[in-house]
Amino acid sequence: MGKDLDDIPLSGITRIRDLMYTVPDPFRLDQGDVSFDAPESVRAAIARAVAEGHTHYLPTTGLPKLRDLLAHKARHRNRLRVESPDEILVTNGGIHGLYLLCQALLEPGDEVLAPDPQWPPAITNILTARGVPVRYPLHASRGWRVDHAELASLVTPRTRAIYVNSPNNPTGGVLTREDLEAIAALARERNLWVISDEAYEDILFDDAEHVSLGSLDGMYPRTLSVFTFSKSYAMTGLRFGYLVVKDARLRERLTKLLFLTTSNVSSVIQHGAIGGLQGSQAIIEQFRVELEARRNLFYEGLPAASGGLFEGQPPKGAFYAFLKIAPGWSPREAGTVSRSWAMTEMLIKDGRIGCIPGVDFGQRGEDHVRFCFARERTELAGALAAMRGVFSGRL
Ligand code: PMP
Repeated sequence: MGKDLDDIPLSGITRIRDLMYTVPDPFRLDQGDVSFDAPESVRAAIARAVAEGHTHYLPTTGLPKLRDLLAHKARHRNRLRVESPDEILVTNGGIHGLYLLCQALLEPGDEVLAPDPQWPPAITNILTARGVPVRYPLHASRGWRVDHAELASLVTPRTRAIYVNSPNNPTGGVLTREDLEAIAALARERNLWVISDEAYEDILFDDAEHVSLGSLDGMYPRTLSVFTFSKSYAMTGLRFGYLVVKDARLRERLTKLLFLTTSNVSSVIQHGAIGGLQGSQAIIEQFRVELEARRNLFYEGLPAASGGLFEGQPPKGAFYAFLKIAPGWSPREAGTVSRSWAMTEMLIKDGRIGCIPGVDFGQRGEDHVRFCFARERTELAGALAAMRGVFSGRL
């Protein structure tokens, strides 16, 4: 890549981090991390692996026993027609899986349809593989879902793949089975790959249902599924994810890239993942129930805290409040280019409340701010109280 990398932005997250360092006792609603720790099943398995000396090189694509367990999970929980554990490739978290996929799949100039707004690394990974992201809008008025005719109209002879992320970061939108059927039909009709990023597969609220794209009729061979333990098992820092890929040629390329980028994912973390899969899965539901309570707490307090300056429905999935800034609010400094940056900086500097400007997720995110509500209830309550202070001084 060399100097091409100079032109690829690292997203506003670094600027936010710098800003957060300038405030004492901040409310960390900016980063997408849960406040839970990994379950005992994972931690005990890691400790055991260390004690037993599992400190050596492993097969590049992952421990056979782990791939067996993941193949079983993908078959039963995601309804993917996995025939062999060879179809599973263990990665250093979802972001690594996405990087490998883009590198293995794309030729320079290949277009990839991707949502706007969207978690920035999905876009930068396409750019880093010299692909061209073509953004398709997610519509707030439709629960941040896609308009199928609009999506179809963006396909050109250069389109190689559609990147889909449901539940979505930052919007919390969850695509319905009908949405996914329409995307699948388009992919089949136009012979496209689908990259299905299912990082938030277990974080669903109300009546929402998670459907894996690769489980739909005829879709498994053309779907490249990205999974991670970061959210489901509260393992963000441990770094564990995996890809499910049917196509043998792509798998060979992915194996080369895996070898070159990591040789193998950390042995002790792979043992931890085995522990997680063999332990009780009830923990996933416990996390989900607590996240739903935190979502409700945040949204119930929001109207009073913000004086009605933030608008938006509680999301059906993931753990972000992606809120629209009401038209009535204007930045203190005249001539400000981005309202979402102005709002973010004010909340951080005046309220110690970490958040991310919506424009960082794409042009359609402008005028929005993202808050992560996966924090402790006390931290959420503190952030709401601080927000009330910021806005009551200004109203
Ligand atoms: N996809 C999406 C949409 C995400 O939001 C994230 C993490 N924030 C990931 C993938 C990757 O997570 P990780 O690398 O921690 O597995």
